[in-house]
Amino acid sequence: MTKELILVLNCGSSSVKFSIIDPIKEVTYIDGIVETVNSVTSLIIKNFIKNKKLFKKFDKVESYKKLIILIFDILIDQYKNYLNNVIGIGHRVVHGGEYLKKSMIINSFILSKIQESSIFAPLHNPFHLLAINVALKKILKLKNFNVAVFDTAFHHTLPKESFLYAIPYHFYTDYSIRRYGAHGINHFYITKQSSIFLKKPIFKLNIISCHLGSGSSITAIVNGKSVDTSMGLTPLEGLVMGTRCGDIDPSIIFYMVKKLGISIDKVQKILTENSGVLGISSISNDFRKLEEKYNINKKAKLSIDIFCRRVSKYICGYSSLMCGRLDAIIFTGGIGENSSLIRYKIINKLSLIGCFLDIDKNLKNNKKIMFINSIKSIPILVIPANENQIIAKETYDLVKKSIL
Ligand code: ADP
Repeated sequence: MTKELILVLNCGSSSVKFSIIDPIKEVTYIDGIVETVNSVTSLIIKNFIKNKKLFKKFDKVESYKKLIILIFDILIDQYKNYLNNVIGIGHRVVHGGEYLKKSMIINSFILSKIQESSIFAPLHNPFHLLAINVALKKILKLKNFNVAVFDTAFHHTLPKESFLYAIPYHFYTDYSIRRYGAHGINHFYITKQSSIFLKKPIFKLNIISCHLGSGSSITAIVNGKSVDTSMGLTPLEGLVMGTRCGDIDPSIIFYMVKKLGISIDKVQKILTENSGVLGISSISNDFRKLEEKYNINKKAKLSIDIFCRRVSKYICGYSSLMCGRLDAIIFTGGIGENSSLIRYKIINKLSLIGCFLDIDKNLKNNKKIMFINSIKSIPILVIPANENQIIAKETYDLVKKSIL
């Protein structure tokens, strides 16, 4: 076993994913997920080296902190031989705000900056902070080797004309209200993988990366750098999502509050948790369920059609930012990787920018990188998302630098 492994922690509000990775060989040794559904907390850990799976169920673990402690206890108890070779812990952090523009070794100053950015990611950053604090205490020998890798970092190359909102300028200078984007770790991974598969150096690569999952975002990447992205101050802006509304006229909020008397907290809940394809269909936020009903339920069809139309519009809009050359369009994320119907409906509206689908290739689903374009088209690729590899490599690089 390699002596230099990285533990990656990806803490969402409803689940915690963790992996032990060899960042150089890009091999995952251990992959785990803990989530609480109704009154049961379940844990699954796959050991790829021994080809074994651990499955445990617990009474609902009440606090998030206890959930993280549980993970560390199990790792220490049952996966000690891997943990002993871990040289750093990489934490995915959704929002780094204006200040945290690249991955950082965590210290009390960085913790305070992550805390400051919680206002822009209330469903994510507070959970990251809890996990980081447990990690710092539980594995003392790695205390100085916890690294934060930010989903906003890749988008720090956005030019002002992309990241500024057309509101009075002082809201940016005084309160840092601007577009930050999200999913940056995966958009960066997609950029690296595209460079390999298209045989083009990153600094010459012009692509549009479509991360379509329960949260969705599109990024315009020119010369390997993010120049525009659909998520904004928070991950609520942009595409229609599972439960999030994406772009809407802000006047809807005034109308709901002033005319309908809905409290501002309730409006926030409606737009983040009860909207998107769930809100339109009243059926589900799970695209698999909506697809099953696509031909038999008008609202299921409508919600998917609205989702796809918005994606096509963003892609065509971003094609205008490509400085005259679009090298590829990439689909990634749970929907982008798996749904041939949704890819078909999106790409069907892109003929004007030279995108045409190969129907048979699009129907394949082999969990691998694949081209799905026809011969006359610009390349269209499906690339499975892999944030963990980037988090592991960034953590490894920073830890090695600080040891030397
Ligand atoms: P997250 O944003 O939480 O990381 P994922 O990228 O894993 O989410 O995407 C989850 C979404 O992908 C869910 O809405 C799920 O329904 C959708 N999805 C997964 N598999 C398929 C499929 N075969 N067809 C359509 N949608 C799918």
